[in-house]
Amino acid sequence: MRKRPTCEELKKRVRELNKEVATCKKAEEALRESNRYTRELIEVSLDPLVTISSDGSITDVNHATEKLTGYPRDKLIGTHFSEYFTDPRKADQGYLHVLREGHVRDYPLQITHRDGTVTPVLYNASVYHDSKGDIAGVFAAARDITERRKIEEDLRKNEKKLNCLLAEVAAKNEELDSFVYRISHDLKTPIVTIDGFVGALREDFGDVLLEDGERFLRYISDAARKMEILINDLLALSRIGRLPRRKTKFSFARLIKDAVKALQPHIKAQGIVVNIQKDLPVIYGERVRLARVVDNLLTNAIKYMGEKNLSPRIDIGVEEQNSQKAFFVRDNGIGIEKKDFEKIFQVFQRLPSAKKELGEGTGVGLTIVKRIIEHHGGKIWLISEPGKGTTFYFTLKDKEA
Ligand code: ADP
Repeated sequence: MRKRPTCEELKKRVRELNKEVATCKKAEEALRESNRYTRELIEVSLDPLVTISSDGSITDVNHATEKLTGYPRDKLIGTHFSEYFTDPRKADQGYLHVLREGHVRDYPLQITHRDGTVTPVLYNASVYHDSKGDIAGVFAAARDITERRKIEEDLRKNEKKLNCLLAEVAAKNEELDSFVYRISHDLKTPIVTIDGFVGALREDFGDVLLEDGERFLRYISDAARKMEILINDLLALSRIGRLPRRKTKFSFARLIKDAVKALQPHIKAQGIVVNIQKDLPVIYGERVRLARVVDNLLTNAIKYMGEKNLSPRIDIGVEEQNSQKAFFVRDNGIGIEKKDFEKIFQVFQRLPSAKKELGEGTGVGLTIVKRIIEHHGGKIWLISEPGKGTTFYFTLKDKEA
């Protein structure tokens, strides 16, 4: 016969049972807390969250989903998820995609609120599994992209406005170009007249002209010449956009060599060492105009070398900048102050430093250069330091270079 437990043994057993109950309660409390924590996270999510069973009915939602649809959760749960979209067919397709692929990212849909308002959203969704590893349903999170859409729409509108403004500016520029062209053309006639009469005066009255008279005629001739150069520069400037030339492929090295050859007397007179980089690429563009760019940059490099430069030097070449070919003309001349970097590209803007033997210049050269480069889809810029020298860089449109 089984021995009856003593009173002491019974008390001990009760104590043990109490301990077990306390442990169970603690575990239950921890589980409740963990569930509460998880639920709280789901509820505070600003993104609408929803779980959908394998037959497409909603099994759970959070507060954000209630807010976005306008329905309380007890009305949502059990209904088919696709009912709440403007395009239920597309919603179904997205859902099938998740079941097939396991997930979907940034799937665009539009949710209809009970009051009829429509919210554009992007869905991220994936399947989740039960304890046996079978697909239990789909967990989906939407991101309200109303603000993003608004910004995109504003951007589109601004872009449209900008394009209209750009078209207006282009039209105005064209108008201005033809105006400059006409004026420049008309101004050429009086110059020819001045030249003609200076010649006539010399011919008819040369022997009675005193020294002063001859000097004055020279001044008139020089002024007329200067005016002619200025007009020709303006004509060239106005022609760039209006009269495009044929584009061809040609050697950049050849272009440089021709320009250096033409300027050789000045290079020699100033004892300038010119260094041309080897293996220069073939370029594509309007040859005569790009020759003008090179000639202008080289002429400036010579003009602004500085009288007291003991080792004048010009380097011409190409280097990679931002994965683009940047052609450069570098001198160690007088340099340019940073505040003048933009100014020198404006028409008639000169800094007080030109050397006479290469012509006084008109301040149009770099304006023409910039226009030609931009007309070729490229950019021009410089780095410079007063007393140390200047490097002009330019690019040509990638597919053309
Ligand atoms: P300009 O006919 O006067 O040379 P540009 O338009 O070619 O006209 O140049 C504008 C001004 O930029 C020049 O007057 C000169 O002051 C400055 N400049 C251009 N290139 C250089 C250079 N390589 N070094 C220093 N100054 C320069």
